[in-house]
Amino acid sequence: MDKRTFLKVTGYASAGIVATPLVSTLIGCGNSPSEKPENALPASTVPAAFTLPELGFAHEALEPAVDRKTMQIHHGKHHAGYVRKLNAAMKGHPLEGRPLETVLASITPEDSGLRNHGGGHFNHALFWKIISPGGAAAPEGKLMQRVEQNFGSLEDLKNALGKAAAQRFGSGWAWLVQDSNNPDRLFVTSTANQDNPLMTGIVSGKAQGRPLMGIDVWEHAYYLNYQNRRTEYVAALLDRVNWTAVASLMS
Ligand code: MN
Repeated sequence: MDKRTFLKVTGYASAGIVATPLVSTLIGCGNSPSEKPENALPASTVPAAFTLPELGFAHEALEPAVDRKTMQIHHGKHHAGYVRKLNAAMKGHPLEGRPLETVLASITPEDSGLRNHGGGHFNHALFWKIISPGGAAAPEGKLMQRVEQNFGSLEDLKNALGKAAAQRFGSGWAWLVQDSNNPDRLFVTSTANQDNPLMTGIVSGKAQGRPLMGIDVWEHAYYLNYQNRRTEYVAALLDRVNWTAVASLMS
């Protein structure tokens, strides 16, 4: 293991999350100085800002499940806004320059800027990956084994995610999560607003773990095409999950 990899691993472990490699490395929402130990930066170095990751596919690629206009606004306006406001909230904060996972695992409910915009950046970067076109149309290998062990079948998992999405009142996310202490245990949960399972200082213990899939149930994710029909949107999305991307996030 080289030094850089070691630092990534220890950084993640110290955040209380057993996972290698960093989720943010996999989903492309890290910032460059986060890969260095905090005391390695000269005092004069200004940490690089978080940046909006490329979508990696055409805005219309998910039609008819998700329309082009929704994707343009969702990625280009909403996600970009979270990145911009996260960078503003990080300025001068004691967690400035730390990896996003460390930030999310360290914040308290008082850190509303980092909570809302750090969560917003992480959640959307993950979302684009797990709905990106291509990849396996169903879980395979170890992931499928774990899906069957924990839920019964893929259909049962989709039903559980659909239920969590439908029951989330107002804005939030439905999640497939891997237990950080027991990698064989997967579970479904949901969080409000831009909270996510990495926020150990904020979300309930039952929702904490390693996020493998997040379904955005904010109205901005579906309203143009589906209006109030959230259930229909979630079902369409679950039928086009990139299970290769989901499996890549599993430890
Ligand atoms: Mn969103």
